[in-house]
Order: sequence, then C-alpha cells, then structure tokens
Amino acid sequence: MAAKTSYDVVIIGGGFAGVTAARDLQKRGLSTIVLEARDRLGGRTFYEERNGFHVELGGTWIHWTQPFVWAEKERYGLEVQETPGCVAERIAIKIDGKVQELQEAQLGEFVEGFEHFFAESKGVWERPYDIHHCWEAVCERDALTVADRLNALDLTPLQRTSLGGFLEILSMNQPQNASYVEMMRTWSLTAWNYQLFNDTAARYKLTKGTAALVEAITRDGGFEVALSTAVRSVQHTSEGVSVTTESGERLMAQRAVVTVPLNVLHNLHFDPPLSEVKLEASKLKHVGGGCKVFFEVGGDPGAVMTLSRSTDSPLIGSFTYKRGEKHSVLAGFSLEPDALEKSVDEWQPVLEEFIPGVKVLSTFGHDWGGDDLSQGSWCTYRPGTVARFTDELPRQEGHLYFASGDHAQGWRGFIEGAIASGSRTAVQVAESLRT
Ligand SMILES: Cc1cc2nc3c(=O)[nH]c(=O)nc-3n(C[C@H](O)[C@H](O)[C@H](O)COP(=O)(O)OP(=O)(O)OC[C@H]3O[C@@H](n4cnc5c(N)ncnc54)[C@H](O)[C@@H]3O)c2cc1C
Repeated sequence: MAAKTSYDVVIIGGGFAGVTAARDLQKRGLSTIVLEARDRLGGRTFYEERNGFHVELGGTWIHWTQPFVWAEKERYGLEVQETPGCVAERIAIKIDGKVQELQEAQLGEFVEGFEHFFAESKGVWERPYDIHHCWEAVCERDALTVADRLNALDLTPLQRTSLGGFLEILSMNQPQNASYVEMMRTWSLTAWNYQLFNDTAARYKLTKGTAALVEAITRDGGFEVALSTAVRSVQHTSEGVSVTTESGERLMAQRAVVTVPLNVLHNLHFDPPLSEVKLEASKLKHVGGGCKVFFEVGGDPGAVMTLSRSTDSPLIGSFTYKRGEKHSVLAGFSLEPDALEKSVDEWQPVLEEFIPGVKVLSTFGHDWGGDDLSQGSWCTYRPGTVARFTDELPRQEGHLYFASGDHAQGWRGFIEGAIASGSRTAVQVAESLRT
C-alpha cells in the first residue's frame, strides 16, 4: 500500500533494475516508489537456507568484468566467496554416451573448441556494448542458431560435447533455439578469453548473497517500497502517468519506469499500447528457460564439474557449490521441463554416472519458467531478433521508461545488465525532469 497517491516517479518491479533506478532517482531528490508484485524485492535473485548453506536459487555469480555490479559490491563493502566446482579438480564429460574424465593433456583441445566456435566474435562484437559498431556483421549472422555454427565446424567429439554443453547452459536452451550472435556477444564481454569467461560465469558469489546487495541498495536509496502490489495497467499522456494496481489502487506520477521481465511485459495493459516491437518481443518470449537444480549430497565430493549435451543426459552441467564434511551441495542445470519434479531416486543414477559413489540426499530449486512473474530464467534472444530488439526494447515511450537485465546493452541476461540498465534509465528520467 503506497503512502501517497502522487510521486515524481513510479518504478514497476523491484528486481536489481528497479531498486537501482529507484535509489538513483530518490538520491537526486525525486520522490520515488517501487511497486513489486512479490512479497520481497530481488526478482530473479532469491535464496534458500538449506541445512546451514546459503543457496542462491536464481542469479548468483558476479565478476569484475562487470563494472556496475562490481562497483556496487565495492561501494557497500560486500565480500565474495569462491565456488569450488568452477575451479574444478576433476571435470567429468559425457562423450559419445560414455563419461570420461578430462585429462590435463586434453585441456588445450577443450579450450580450442571455444576458440573455433567464437573465432568470428572479435569482428562481430569488437565493441560488445555497441551493436552499431559492426552493424553489418551482426545483421549478416543474426538469423544463425548456435546449432548452425556447431554444424559448420570440424570439432572433435570432446569439443562438440564440452562446448555444446557449455552453450546450452549459457543460453538455457537447445542449440537450434539460441542465437549465435548473442553467444558471441557474451564471449566478447570477457575479452575473448576462456578463463575469464569461465570465471565470470560461475566463480565468485556474494558471501552474504544477492539479497544483501538488494538490501544495501534499498537502505541507501531510502525510496518507498510497496510489496505484494502487482500493477495491472498503465495510462500515460503528455501530462504524466497513471498506474493502477491489481487491487484497484491508482497512483499518479510524472514518469514511470517499467522493469518487469520481458516475458511478462505483455501481461500489463498499456494505454496507449506499447510499440508493436515490444509487444511482439514479449509475446514471442526470450528463450532462456531450463532449470537450475540443486543436489544435496552426502559427504564431500570434492571440487567437481560435469558436462554433457542435453541429448545425452538430463543434467547438462553441474559443479560443487558448497562443500561440507557431512554434506555438500552441487548446482546443476537441466533443460528437462520436469527437472524439479524428478525424485531423488530418479536423479541418483544420473549424478552417479558422473560422480561415482555420490549419494543424493535431496534436490531443490525454483521453477522460474513456471513462475508467473518471470516466465523464464535469464534472457537469451532468439535467432533473428537481435538487430530488431536491441535498440527498441529499452526505447522510451512518452513518459514511460524501460529498464531491465533482459534488454541491457552489454551484459544482457545478467545482474550486471539489470543494474546498468536501471542506473542509465535513472539518469534519463532525472534529465527529463530537470527544470
Ligand atoms: C536460475 C537463474 C540463474 C541466474 N544466474 C545468474 C548469475 O549467476 N549471474 C548473473 O549475473 N545473472 C544470473 N541470472 C540472471 C539475473 O538474475 C537477471 O538477469 C536479473 O536478476 C534480472 O533483473 P531485473 O531487475 O531485470 O528483472 P527481475 O529480477 O525479474 O525483476 C523484475 C521484477 O518485476 C516484478 N514484476 C513482474 N510483474 C509485475 C507486475 N505486474 N507488477 C509489479 N511487479 C511485477 C517481478 O516480480 C520482479 O521482482 C540468473 C537468473 C536465473 C533465473
């Protein structure tokens, strides 16, 4: 329930994009409220305490290649800790139906697979924040899928599996559904370097969790928050914006910032309607699906990583997330729609194939695809949509502004992108209100 009926700015959605925009606007002296449908802030970042372990069910890993989120971590003095399986002592890969342990002598072959796949990326994303810099090169390849690229290369069986599995995790979809251009952009953000790419993807997590960063931003910002307040409709005129919640409450503001996930944007009613491209993109949905599924296992399996193609195993990848003497937790990824419903008995042989002797005690996770307020995991654009959506999705419409990790310019699909987009949008909104 809002304290007032009128604000300078209403922010719709309280994930990282929303709270960052709210903080930056309130600190510029603009009265700002965040309306969040859930009973908590943080959106697609959320945690569970599991038998003494803090486990992030959504967005988790951050890195200094991500300037905005790293600056926030430094600003608020938050610590990070390492994820053991990201720097694994043992990597088990399922190749041609058989699990093999990656040998030191194969490391070169493994990394070369990535270098072959991404060989064009320097020319296509010489500047990964600027699609216009190599516009023609992006457009020429926009329709290509990850599968198209994989099929065009002469890869060894090891490379085909390790690279294929990694790309399935990165896009959270099968190679035929994921955009090759999008994968190249992410690779370019880590300076075309495998080690940096791997470390950015899954090495460092906030010791006290992402919730500690959301809380630090919120406390510092001092903006108003209304939880359990879903927005139903938004009307905007040259005078300002009127926002109506599901319970019928109406708030007026000079500006609104819409931060709801791309896949649910079309559920809100806008008058006048959103641009056709925004509506099309939201209804089409990004392809980031799949499940992050956790396994609580007995004892300490060591620092392990597993990789497979989704055609060979329900588990495309996993790695040790938390180690303990009595029990540990592995973080895994699956493209199977029922991954979170599978029983311990169903998962036991799947995991044991990669980690002999492992004993699965429980499995858990959050179904982000089935969650009405996200309807997907992290954002990966579809093949054939990158050139059309990149500029259009964040484009302002009248007094409506749009911020989201789902359409950030650089680290699209990441916490970093959400913070960068929220921060950039706050500057635009504040500028528009400068008298
Ligand atoms: C399983 C998983 C793992 C991930 N791993 C990583 C990772 O390791 N590192 C990383 O950087 N990123 C990761 N991500 C991605 C990252 O979490 C997201 O990109 C980022 O959190 C998105 O932030 P956002 O603010 O744009 O959107 P969200 O966090 O989705 O926030 C949008 C908010 O809008 C709210 N909302 C929706 N509809 C309405 C409505 N009608 N009215 C009011 N509020 C509404 C939602 O409840 C939500 O709180 C992961 C995501 C998932 C799901």
